[in-house]
Order: sequence, then structure tokens, then C-alpha cells
Amino acid sequence: MIQIATSWLLLLPVMFGIGWLASRWDLRLENRMDELERMRQQRSTFKGLSLLLNEQPDQAIETLVKIAQLDPETIELHFSLGNLFRRRGETERAIKVHQHLANRDDLKPRDRDHAAYELGRDFLRAGLLDRAEASLNRVGEGKFAVPAKESLLEMYQVERDWKKAIIAAHELAILQGKSHQTEIAQFHCELGQEALRRKDLQEAEQSIQRALQAVPNHSRALILQGDYAMAMERPAQAIDTWSLVATSHPAYMHLLADRWMIAHTAINQIDAGLDRLCELLKTQASGELLDIVHKQLMTIRGPQVANVMLADVMQHSPSLSALSKLAETRLALEESSANAERVLELQSILNLLRQRTTSLARYTCGNCGFRARRFYWQCPGCNNWEAYSPRRAEGAAPSGPSM
Ligand SMILES: [Zn+2]
Repeated sequence: MIQIATSWLLLLPVMFGIGWLASRWDLRLENRMDELERMRQQRSTFKGLSLLLNEQPDQAIETLVKIAQLDPETIELHFSLGNLFRRRGETERAIKVHQHLANRDDLKPRDRDHAAYELGRDFLRAGLLDRAEASLNRVGEGKFAVPAKESLLEMYQVERDWKKAIIAAHELAILQGKSHQTEIAQFHCELGQEALRRKDLQEAEQSIQRALQAVPNHSRALILQGDYAMAMERPAQAIDTWSLVATSHPAYMHLLADRWMIAHTAINQIDAGLDRLCELLKTQASGELLDIVHKQLMTIRGPQVANVMLADVMQHSPSLSALSKLAETRLALEESSANAERVLELQSILNLLRQRTTSLARYTCGNCGFRARRFYWQCPGCNNWEAYSPRRAEGAAPSGPSM
């Protein structure tokens, strides 16, 4: 008995050895299977990318979607693919890729938010605004909350839905811990301006007050408050409000100078109104204010007075616009004389100067450099608010975007 037990004992290490070898074999087999699976997926990925590069995006998407179902690790690849399509303007394909991700039940909350955000951007790009809004509103708190809210804010501005834009800007301010009061004041101003246009004076007043609450002494809100007073047939009150613009925001006076003169005419104070505008030219002698004051001076006080004003402006703030106005005034003075040669000479100088000022005088966005003939509160190039300098410049011919 003792002998049998001893032989069994001798067999034990051999059996352990066989067991160990079998487990190693299983492990190697398992690793080999994993490796084969990885290689198969890699081949599918390369096949998908190759189809993509060969301009066969439909088959590429199908192949890559299959990989994503087998391997959740390829989610990032899908986001990249979807964004690539969107950048190329192929929004339908971008939607297809992102929609597939958004519909998956096995995504982590962060990836689901990411998919809803990207899908919202796709719909926005495709102009499907209702679907964009629904998708962006599905994005929860987390990494994509801010970009989703920014996209919603951008969309409401495109739609000119200022009420929703105000709510989105308030929510974005909380999410970012950053003030959006300038935009909020501008959105209230947009509402105020629309209400003035349709003669809803009660709503106009409310919106203007809210704009002034968002940014006290806000330039555009004060201009609109004067317009509201004019609509209420209170020219003296309009002048009082616009005087605040003259004091606090003189560079914006060209936006209301015509109405300023109408208000002064209504209370028989034309001279006082014109004197105040002439006074402003000492510091704001460029651009449209000069055009308006010159036109008023020529009409009310005649070319002699306009000539003196322009000679003074050319001393302290020389510009092509001022020179053009000077030539126009001198021409008006000469036209009453019999000197036909001098009139012709001034006429050709004036034509040349007008051509130059028309082609060069532009308002320029301080953010993106977009140049435009008229002043915008919101830049048509980059959509930023109050990015335009209220001063029209006569710089060199634009090389960037302009209108
Ligand atoms: Zn801009």
C-alpha cells in the first residue's frame, strides 16, 4: 500500500505539469482568437477608410457602423467621421453617422450627450432648426452643456427669436460663470426696435427698460429710448435722452443726428440742435456725422458757413470725406460765379474724391475685420455684438471680406 501511494506521489508533479501546460494552451488559444478578432476589425476599419477615401461614403459608413457595433472603442472614430462629413457640407451623411450613435442604448451618458450635441449641429447646418433645437435640448449637464447652449443661442439669433435668445444667454451665463449682459441688452433692443416698428409702444418701452437694466446707460437702448419719446410725440424728452448719448457715447451720434434735427425742428430749436452737432465735430469729425452736419449746414446756413466749418475740420481732422465735402461746398460757392473753368475743375475733383470715399469708407469689425458700408450692431461676418467700431474708417482697399 505504501508503495502504491509513493508512486502516486511521484505522479503528482507530472499531473500538475500537464494541467499547467493545458491552461497555457487555453490562454494562448484565447489570445490568438482575440488577436484574430482584432485583425478582422482592423481590416474592416481599413476597408471603411479606404471606401471613404475612394469617395464611396455610403458603403464606408455601413462598414464603419458595423465595426462600432462590434467594438465600442471606435466611437471616437465615428464622431470624427460625422464631423468630417459636416465640414465637407455633407450634412445628410453626418446626420446618419451621429443619428446611429445617438440611437445606441449602450452609450455612456457623456457619449450620448456628445452624439446629441453633434446631431444638433448637423441639423443646424442643414437648416432643420426645430430638430436642431430638440437635439441640443437633449444634451444633459456635463462637458457638452456649454457648447450645446452656445449652439442654441446662435440658432435663436439666426431665427431672430430674441425672447428665447435672452433665456439661453441667461442660462449660458450661469453655466459659464461669465456675463452675457451685452448680448442680453442687444436682444432687448432688437425686441424694442421691432415693437417700435409695429407701433406697439408699450412693449417697446418695456424692452428698452430691460435693456437699460441689463447694461445701464447702454448706447443703443438710449437711442431707442429717444425714438420711443419721438413716437410718443415728446421731442423735448427725446432730445434729453439723446443728449446722454452725445455725452456718454458721442461716436454713436451719427446714428441719430437726422432725428436729432427733426426733434429740434419740432420745438423750434433748430439752431441750438445744429450748434450742438457742430460742437461734436471737434472730436467726431469723421464719417457719417460730418456728412449729416454738412448737409444740415448747407440747407440751413448756406455754403459760406459750411465752408468755414470744413476748413476748420481739415485743420484738426483731415480726411478724404472732409476734403470731398469741401470740394462740394466750394463748387456750390463757385456755381453762383461766372467762372465756368473753375466750376469744371471742381466738378472733376469732386467726382474723383467721391469715387475714392465711396470705395474706401467702411465700418470695420474689431473681431474678424469684416468691413461694411453701413454700421451694424451685430457683425454679419462673425455674429459678435458691438464688435463694429462706430467710426467709419477710410483705410486701404480691403483685402478681407467686405460688403
Ligand atoms: Zn466680425
